Parts: sequence; C-alpha cells; structure tokens
Amino acid sequence: MQSDFSQNRLEILQKIATTAKEAGRNPDDITLVAVSKTQTPEKLDEALSDGQKIFGENRVQEAYSHWGERDCSDLELRLIGPLQTNKSDEAVKLFDVIETLDREHLCASLQKSIQKIGKAPKILMQINIGNEEQKAGVAINEFPRLLDLAREHYRLEVTGLMCIPPAELPPAPYFALLQKLAKTHDLKTLSMGMSSDFETAIKFGATHVRVGTALFGARNYQSNL
Ligand SMILES: *Cc1c(COP(=O)(O)O)cnc(C)c1O
Repeated sequence: MQSDFSQNRLEILQKIATTAKEAGRNPDDITLVAVSKTQTPEKLDEALSDGQKIFGENRVQEAYSHWGERDCSDLELRLIGPLQTNKSDEAVKLFDVIETLDREHLCASLQKSIQKIGKAPKILMQINIGNEEQKAGVAINEFPRLLDLAREHYRLEVTGLMCIPPAELPPAPYFALLQKLAKTHDLKTLSMGMSSDFETAIKFGATHVRVGTALFGARNYQSNL
C-alpha cells in the first residue's frame, strides 16, 4: 500500500506538471522542495524511500538533528529559515543552498565561513516582499545595494530570490513582484509558493516550491514564520 507521503507527493507532482503546462512552462524547471521541519525520523525515512532528495529546513540546529547522522551525499539541503551569524559556520557545512540572506552582517559572516570551511553553498536573497515589519528579508528598496555588496564585495554566489508573502492577502501580486525583481537583476532561481499557493507561484515563474504540510501532513507545532 502507498504511504500518505507517497500519495501526497504524487498528487503534488501532478499538480506541478499540470500548472506548468497551463502556464507554458516546462515542468522540469520546477523543483519540489520538501519542507521537513518538525517531522519525525520515520517521516524522513518515508520521504527518502519515496525518492525525495531535496529538503528545506528552517533552523540550523533542527536540520543537524534531522540530517547530521545521515548520508546526505545524494541529497540537497536548503536553509529556508532566518540565519543568525553565530550559526553561519554550521550552516555552510550542512546546507547546499542558503535561501535567506537578508543583511550585510550576514554577507560578511558567510564569506568568512565559506573561506574557513572551503565549501560555498549557493545563496538566495530573501526579500521582505510585503514590507512587513515583523518579517525577515531585505526591504525592496535596499535589495539592489545588498545584492551588489554581496556579489562584488563579499564574493557570494547569489543565484536567486526567495519570499514569503503576507499571510492574509492574495499572494499573486507578491509573486509577480518577486519575478520582476529577479528579472531586472538577471537572477534565475525563484523560491516561492508553499502548500496553499504553490500553483499560483508557478504561474509567476517559481523554480522552487517549498511544500511542508501538503506533503507530510500537519506539523507538530507551529513554526515561527
Ligand atoms: C514552513 C515553511 C514552508 C512550508 O509551509 P507549508 O505551508 O507547510 O507548505 C515553506 N517555506 C518556509 C520559509 C517555511 O518556513
């Protein structure tokens, strides 16, 4: 019998393919990132045996407890939650992609960690797309300057943008805005869309959709977005 995860994943991959085709896009250009925060080791085993290889985690510490003891050579791990500078060594060691660069202080500390550890994750910049006071991400008007600094001064490989639109509003205008910012700055990767809105995100060019509950079922506790 198929597990819940397997069934859910199949349905989501089908929705991704259908939506991509409707939008005139190639389904292969869209990657399903399984957001494994708060999940049990059994759930992770299930995901792995189903062939899922790309995972998103919110916290460095929790990511180590999930993945630190596993063979990750075949996997891609993506940090999708806020990063504190004192965890940047650990983040650079574990993650293939860090999606949440949003300030100069963090550019400096990532640069140091990359030199020290001798491994350079790809970097996305998180944009505070709804200009929300409590939310992480660089402000839209400060983003061009931070991008320049990150690339030219700190030599970071910034390949794309990530956002989390305001929770209570229709997401489409925010996805459209992130797509426009990426295009203006020639950034290819667009991480946007979650369980409730990944299809909309695909219409606006998402290359990576970050899906948690629709894949794994409900989480044990609420994350602190
Ligand atoms: C938790 C989380 C997700 C997944 O959310 P779901 O609604 O469970 O799909 C995606 N992105 C980020 C940044 C998250 O923290």
